[in-house]
Amino acid sequence: MTYTLPKLDYAYNALEPFIDAKTMEIHHSKHHQTYIDKLNAALDKHPEFAGKPLEELLKNINSVPEDIRTAVRNHGGGHLNHSIYWKTLGPNCGGEAQGEIAAAISKEFGSFTDFKKKLSETSVNHFGSGWGWLVADSSGKLSVISLPNQDSPLMQGLKPVFGIDVWEHAHYLLRQNRRAEYVEVLWNVINWNEVGEVYASALK
Ligand code: MN
Repeated sequence: MTYTLPKLDYAYNALEPFIDAKTMEIHHSKHHQTYIDKLNAALDKHPEFAGKPLEELLKNINSVPEDIRTAVRNHGGGHLNHSIYWKTLGPNCGGEAQGEIAAAISKEFGSFTDFKKKLSETSVNHFGSGWGWLVADSSGKLSVISLPNQDSPLMQGLKPVFGIDVWEHAHYLLRQNRRAEYVEVLWNVINWNEVGEVYASALK
């Protein structure tokens, strides 16, 4: 199987003024495409792994052949992370979580406001490139972590629910080094319906 770039459900300019069209276009059509190209190139060397779900490869990263392990970790992680990112953002979104995930957030963090503060601070304070993550364990219990580079929460036995990409490529064109500003405005474009769907499938 060859991985391909997932189409966005919205236009590149749909998240303005929070995320600009140029950033979206380059992030999706260049950065994400490059992760996919390099993942495909790595799996070409071991076709027996190409048919396995990417989630399985990342979950069992140490069983991936050593000569492609770093490539699968970085570029497979990059493909999966960005696929979640695009899907869980959208225009006319933001606000607070609803339904089952809202209840899980309140249970774990006290309130939506406390959760927002924790995920924002964790993302802003992450040193270097990486992601701030809302993750679920096998019982559905939520937590907030940050991971370097394109590491997937799956590599820690956790399911990704929502991620904030804090690589500079996610904000530099419009906001330069102001990561905290990017993280703050991102809350206006979180599609909580989709995050709820990701959470529901993580529980299965
Ligand atoms: Mn990115």
